[in-house]
Amino acid sequence: MTDKELVESALDARKNSYSPYSNYRVGAALLCEDGTVYTGCNVENASYPCGICGERTAVAKAVSEGHRKFSAIAIAGSSEEICTPCGMCRQVLYEFAPQLKVLCSDSKGNFEEKKLSDLLVAGFGPESME
Ligand code: ZN
Repeated sequence: MTDKELVESALDARKNSYSPYSNYRVGAALLCEDGTVYTGCNVENASYPCGICGERTAVAKAVSEGHRKFSAIAIAGSSEEICTPCGMCRQVLYEFAPQLKVLCSDSKGNFEEKKLSDLLVAGFGPESME
């Protein structure tokens, strides 16, 4: 799976986005170390805080299927700006993969590669509790 293919999966995952309130569709594609890919989209709610981002949807799908080792995630938004993960998603991703490769894409598939450890500096993770 190339970076470009993972971004394409994230772009495709946007089609299931349920975002009637923000009208901002997000898709995510999470690549496990064994090559499995889990996709996710944002799922909003009339009670706004109950909504969940595409990245966390993908993480929940993967972990609930027994996967915890991740090598990359692609995130695609629906504007001309690249879509970067929100703070809550950065924290959730950090739990499993502090060195995760994060591919941040705009609505057309133009993307930038970032490192989670740069996006969440001095993050708090499981090792912090040892
Ligand atoms: Zn988020």
